[in-house]
Amino acid sequence: MAMFETVPVVDVHKDNFKEIWPSLLLSIKTSTFIAMDTELSGLGNRKALIAKSIEDRYKSIAGSAKSRSILSIGISCFKLSSVTNLSTNEGTASGQDVPQCPEGSRGCGWNFLVQTYNITTLCEEDYVVEPGSLKFLVEHGFDFNRQYSKGVPYCRGNDKDEKKADKMSLRQLFLEVLQAACPIVFHNALMDLVFLYENLYACTPQNMASFLADLTEMFPAGVFDTKYITDFKHKMPASYLEYVFRQCLRTNKEYASSGRKHAWASFPTYPEGFSHITRCNCVRPGLAVPSNIDKDTQDKLKATVCESYAGHGWCSRGNSCTKSHDVDLILDIDFLAQSKKSRKRKRRRDNQKTDVENGGSTEQDQEEQEMETNIAEMSLGAKEVSEMCENDTSKTTDKSEAILSGAVGNSKGPVVSGKHRAGFDAFMTGYIMASYVSEYGTYSGSLKMEDVGLEHIRNLVYLTGKDIPLTVVKSGFAKTSKEHREKFSKFCLQSS
Ligand SMILES: [Zn+2]
Repeated sequence: MAMFETVPVVDVHKDNFKEIWPSLLLSIKTSTFIAMDTELSGLGNRKALIAKSIEDRYKSIAGSAKSRSILSIGISCFKLSSVTNLSTNEGTASGQDVPQCPEGSRGCGWNFLVQTYNITTLCEEDYVVEPGSLKFLVEHGFDFNRQYSKGVPYCRGNDKDEKKADKMSLRQLFLEVLQAACPIVFHNALMDLVFLYENLYACTPQNMASFLADLTEMFPAGVFDTKYITDFKHKMPASYLEYVFRQCLRTNKEYASSGRKHAWASFPTYPEGFSHITRCNCVRPGLAVPSNIDKDTQDKLKATVCESYAGHGWCSRGNSCTKSHDVDLILDIDFLAQSKKSRKRKRRRDNQKTDVENGGSTEQDQEEQEMETNIAEMSLGAKEVSEMCENDTSKTTDKSEAILSGAVGNSKGPVVSGKHRAGFDAFMTGYIMASYVSEYGTYSGSLKMEDVGLEHIRNLVYLTGKDIPLTVVKSGFAKTSKEHREKFSKFCLQSS
């Protein structure tokens, strides 16, 4: 059974938006769940974003969402097509008559059909582009010329001119996502949710309780946050998107070959002349580190890896860092370390490191550091992702010799265009969710998410620096906001 090597991402912009619209809508309407990601022009005051009070955090993010904008949106539509029992179904070709598991049994292969879209967007109102974000985006291949010339236009806040409202617009697209009434998945959801609400739905409410109440009506099937699930349920040494994604790739491959529960993704065949596809490469750039290397070599290997990147998926030195940012190498080393010591002891490496370096840092320092890296990760960082896209696989070289001699200094490949990042990030998020569905879900004959039994990880949103999640729930005292009620009643009329 071959692992997929490239992920097709449909590149959507102003000039092909209407052409793509019908297929985009069909993908949304037939999804089992939808994973989303946004790329933002900035995030506002960093300190305010990690305020102790969650209410203050919400207010500062909402403030940022009113003055900043969304540069691109990734939508990855996952449709659970079958759950197969591999023990009786080895080698069944996709699209063939796939036998279903008997009802009540725990299915083995959870097969998803995936369609991913990257939409370049352009806010038509004034917005702030932070110098830091600008520098970062440009350094990592973001093409602002393309964004200004090709971005699908939208306006923030409440609906403006009703009569001029376009049936095929970004704001309408967001309503279509809500109307699909399937679960929405993010990796670190809070920022995305607030920005999407303010930019494509309505003015965000004054207080967080109303915001959360609104969300419960907007997303009746719930919100899943893969960062929260990773940190608090799945428990891995790190939880940044690419790290978790590449670990899930490994696990699914291993489990598929040994007949254990796993997730499988396949993609539609796009017509020959369909020119809007970019293929993002998932092949690991180098060879795996052998699992039987001695302690000395292991230590040497470890010294070639950038600690900051290994822990957070982000490094302030960026391209000029002399150490390796290769996530597969990082995963190999983590695997070796875990098999040497107790695999049960899955403490976060980044916390250990902070303790050692700072001789015990303050909680605030740690939170700030984590926030910095989360911020970079959630909207500006993860440059390796853009490198993965459009990378020529023929450049894959045998690095293992170099790795083992400890000679690897800089394993970063050429920086290529980051224009498909939101799309591929959304795919990675969805793939992680698919893996968790196969791991924590139970197949009972239904292919719907509500029947898989994931209520215990639903509507729990990751909060940086906190041990508890933000729960998406309508509290007894909270009211939905006036803006939402107005919008929602129109929306309900439209959908009935
Ligand atoms: Zn580095």
